Amino acid sequence: MVSFTLLGTGTPAPSLRRQSSGYALQVGTDVIVIDHGPGAAHRLLEAGLRPTDVTHVMLSHLHYDHMADYPRLFLQRWDVGSGKIGELYVAGPAPLAAVHQRLFAPDGAFGPDITSRTTIQASLDVFAARGGQGERHPPAPTLREIAPGDTLTGAAWTMRVAKATHFEPALTCLAFRFDTPDGVIVYTGDTGGVTDEIVTLAKGCDVLIHMCHAEAGTEPSAEYARTVGSHLDAAKAAAASGAKALVLTHLPPSIDKPATLARLTREMAPIYDGPIIVGEDLMALSLEAGVLTATRAARRGADPLQALDKVVAATNDIQAVCAAADAAAQATVGHGLFTVMRLHRDAMEVERLYSSQPDAYPPGGRKPKKDTAWTTQVLKRGKPYFGTGPNAIRSAFNDHATILALGLDCVINVPVVRDDVVVGTVNCLAAPGELSTLDVPHIEAIAARIASAI
Ligand SMILES: [Zn+2]
Repeated sequence: MVSFTLLGTGTPAPSLRRQSSGYALQVGTDVIVIDHGPGAAHRLLEAGLRPTDVTHVMLSHLHYDHMADYPRLFLQRWDVGSGKIGELYVAGPAPLAAVHQRLFAPDGAFGPDITSRTTIQASLDVFAARGGQGERHPPAPTLREIAPGDTLTGAAWTMRVAKATHFEPALTCLAFRFDTPDGVIVYTGDTGGVTDEIVTLAKGCDVLIHMCHAEAGTEPSAEYARTVGSHLDAAKAAAASGAKALVLTHLPPSIDKPATLARLTREMAPIYDGPIIVGEDLMALSLEAGVLTATRAARRGADPLQALDKVVAATNDIQAVCAAADAAAQATVGHGLFTVMRLHRDAMEVERLYSSQPDAYPPGGRKPKKDTAWTTQVLKRGKPYFGTGPNAIRSAFNDHATILALGLDCVINVPVVRDDVVVGTVNCLAAPGELSTLDVPHIEAIAARIASAI
């Protein structure tokens, strides 16, 4: 099976819905990132891929909306993976080598960073602690400048390169065809009109991923229409090449409305009679023996609060509710220990109802809570507490010795308030530096949802 994940289906326009251009092709043991515009690196993580999984990067052209996240991918992959994984293979049009020099050479933008990470003892210690073998070296990718007509091969794929029609001569713009044992995927990059080069490249492909940056006829100029793909260009190219399916990408906010997209695909249908798929960030296309399925990838951590709401609505079981709150906290802020306390106000005693580490830190009976600044802030005034360092732990928890022994030294305590009265606390602890005040509202949202169950 070969899978092609759309990481970013947007444009240069800033958007939370659509990140800029980026794709990940998984074929055999290779993970090939194709373009990596702003936001694509984040989507890569959401798709469940790590920078260290990436073996190749192919850039269609050097517009920033296709490469601004490339340095991020390149540096994170090297930083976390150096000494453990192979070097990256990078291909793109000239002047890729010069751009690389300006970014990553000793006198380049990230040169001082790379020098620091390969010479300063603290970085070398981190390298060794992460399992890095031998000396720590600067990244040494295999760089290849490619042009129309070139062919690259991997273990289970061949990539052919053709000319796209976009912003020449300032930029060399390329389209790619991937032949794999399970089918053929063609990515046009950014291209306008319907050109022989694209039609020939896409001949008989299983999937054509085509730029759709305009509603045909509304372009600001003829030159714009020649260089930027419209919905009718995509349909004509798909029809002329005999593509078995068409996926629209590079979608601008101006046409990215359900009614508009429905109308545009209706207009395309008389030209191209195959399936037309409107691309979405994190959509995964998989090809198995030439059969295409498109699925919306589950975004990691999507709507953890919704999942919690469902559990709260479905059950009164306090353990089930707390476990769901634990999962929501893990998905939103991450933690090393999550506990829920019930406050017995009359006696000023707390009872641990739930613990995410029941062996090391078990739920237990009632314990008196001393009168401290923490008690006043959280239990009496109903305000959240954020603390970092062993002293914070000692002031917040009677069992500080156990907590510190677990390697946890930052904490968020949020009061659970019902009918304006504090009835308990939700407590999130983590390793040094892993929680911040920015995480407090997330835990407050969780505490508010479980108030009725405490
Ligand atoms: Zn673009």
